[in-house]
Amino acid sequence: MIKGKIQEKFSLEFKMVDQKGKIINIECSGKGKIRDNCYVMTGIIIDITEKTNQNELLRISEKNYRRALEGSQEIMFYIYLRNNCITLNGKISKLLDFQQKNEYNFTMEEWITYIVEEDRDKYKRAYFDFVSNKKMYFNIEYRVKNFSDKYVWLKVRGKRILEEDGEYIYGSMNDDTDRKEKELKIYYMSNYDEVTDIPNRRYFVQRSTEILRESIKDRKKFAIIFIDIDNFKFVNDTYGHAIGDEVLKKFCKKLKYVLEENCLLARFGGDEFVVAVHHMENNKQIIGILDKILEEFNLPLDINGKEIYNTVSMGVSIAKVKEDNIQTLLKKADIAIYTSKTGGKNRCCLFNEALSKRLDRELSLNRCIRKAVKNEEVYFLFQPKYWTKNNKIQGFECLARWKSEVLGIVFPMEFIPLAETSGFIIHIGKYLMEDAFKKCNKLIELFSNNIKIAINLSQVQIRDEGLVYFIEYMIKKYGISPNNIEFEVTESIIMKSVDKNIQVLEKLKSLGVSIALDDFGTGYSSLNYLKILPIDTVKIDKSFIKDIGKDFKDEFIIEKIIELAHLLDLEVVAEGVETEQQLKYLIGINCDIIQGYYFSKPLEFEKVINLDKEK
Ligand code: C2E
Ligand code: CA
Ligand code: CA
Repeated sequence: MIKGKIQEKFSLEFKMVDQKGKIINIECSGKGKIRDNCYVMTGIIIDITEKTNQNELLRISEKNYRRALEGSQEIMFYIYLRNNCITLNGKISKLLDFQQKNEYNFTMEEWITYIVEEDRDKYKRAYFDFVSNKKMYFNIEYRVKNFSDKYVWLKVRGKRILEEDGEYIYGSMNDDTDRKEKELKIYYMSNYDEVTDIPNRRYFVQRSTEILRESIKDRKKFAIIFIDIDNFKFVNDTYGHAIGDEVLKKFCKKLKYVLEENCLLARFGGDEFVVAVHHMENNKQIIGILDKILEEFNLPLDINGKEIYNTVSMGVSIAKVKEDNIQTLLKKADIAIYTSKTGGKNRCCLFNEALSKRLDRELSLNRCIRKAVKNEEVYFLFQPKYWTKNNKIQGFECLARWKSEVLGIVFPMEFIPLAETSGFIIHIGKYLMEDAFKKCNKLIELFSNNIKIAINLSQVQIRDEGLVYFIEYMIKKYGISPNNIEFEVTESIIMKSVDKNIQVLEKLKSLGVSIALDDFGTGYSSLNYLKILPIDTVKIDKSFIKDIGKDFKDEFIIEKIIELAHLLDLEVVAEGVETEQQLKYLIGINCDIIQGYYFSKPLEFEKVINLDKEK
């Protein structure tokens, strides 16, 4: 039934049921007039079911949205993209201390002023990207300052929706501060160093990989500096770890002060710091930085009123070839710093290929030395020494050689320090000594009852508490007279711990063996010590002998050493005698014993047997 007032124009909406029983909406419009006492309507009837449904949905959704906006416990918002205005529900008032209202409206510029400054750019960029790239979702995290001036992290989730009057972003934002702070803490802990508050190795490797790539792309120079605090262990041991941490903090502060903007500083642990210098115009900048660092750390650090001096050692590697990645650059800088440290600290070394070769050699030596011990690859050569008074053999110095399957013959200057640091010297020293003791009887039988077999002792061996007992045991085991045994110790070794070493030497002497002071003249050369040390012989270092006939000062020193030694009842050996001129000179100034290539090089035991008893 159509009901309605009688009027000229009409427009009606009504519902009908179609044949299938479905309700349809009809819009009917037209004109009506009285004709022949009847009201006649002409017009059109349109099925507006779909349109009605859409409008209905829109109305409902808007109503619902408004209801949701007001009733929600979350901060709800929509942004109308035509005018860039944001509408938020009342929940925002709690956070930002606004006056209580159901709804708040801001222009985008106004809203941005509530975002903390550091995050504003990020917000603007994300918003611009969303709008201009027609993105569907607007998801972002940023901080606002709440009413008590605390930073609050807002997690924003929004969606683009097309309405009749234009496009909107509908969404919610919630306070995500707890989660975000936890996340940041975890990030901080895995990327930063707690003591100094600077990046750690993990962050450094990741970030410097990126900046190396950028530097190369921009055709700029890139370098790595390894920095190590000299003797930091001493600071920790002397003042304790709390002061140690203070030193690290101050150290870091100073470094930051010296470093320029294009430097990324990190702590790799302990007292190791690393800097990546990127985007350098040329390599000169690095020299400037290194100079400043060395200069700065020549001044003391003020730690709670205490002045602590800490110099630094540095190693530098500069990216040159394309294959240089962060790991290889770090390795190269590490090789360079190792050279700085072994070269006397408080200095800087630049990586080069020669350093690398040296390190490779050291690594191979280190790898092979275990095998040397296990397979007893180290053995003694014997170098004869002759009396000047009668040209007869006075004895032999035992000189170690290492015949490695991999490396060939290795000289003691190379492997003794290595065997010392690895501790293998004790084991090697013992089996070498046992071998020499075994051969001693044969040598006595061949040459004379009075010969002396001289064995060198290293610093680590002297410190070994079992040394004296071991020697005593060997003497007994092989039935040797202690008069046939001599030990050579350098003055620099003795000086490392004078009192303790004198005690060991005295114990050795009490066994009946003799002691020679080796390399005399190269170390402290305190003539005073000649008087107090329990020694029998002085060996003048070959560096003096070499200059006989060339340097009268060296000749003078040799003469005086011999005079003084004789006054103290000590015998004098000249080592490294290579020429007749040297020999004649030494005989002329009453040197007692001669050792050197002039008479013989160090020989294998089998060749010693054939040696002449006299020269
Ligand atoms: P050193 O005790 O001063 O030994 C003397 C060095 O001078 C030996 O070098 C010897 O071969 C060398 N030499 C001898 N005569 C001449 C000469 O006329 N001219 C020249 N230029 N050199 C000559 P080597 O055998 O290379 O030993 C070097 C150092 O290694 C030794 O210096 C010693 O300090 C150490 N060493 C050698 N064997 C042992 C060992 O078994 N134990 C320990 N702890 N150190 C050892
Ligand atoms: Ca020696
Ligand atoms: Ca020597």
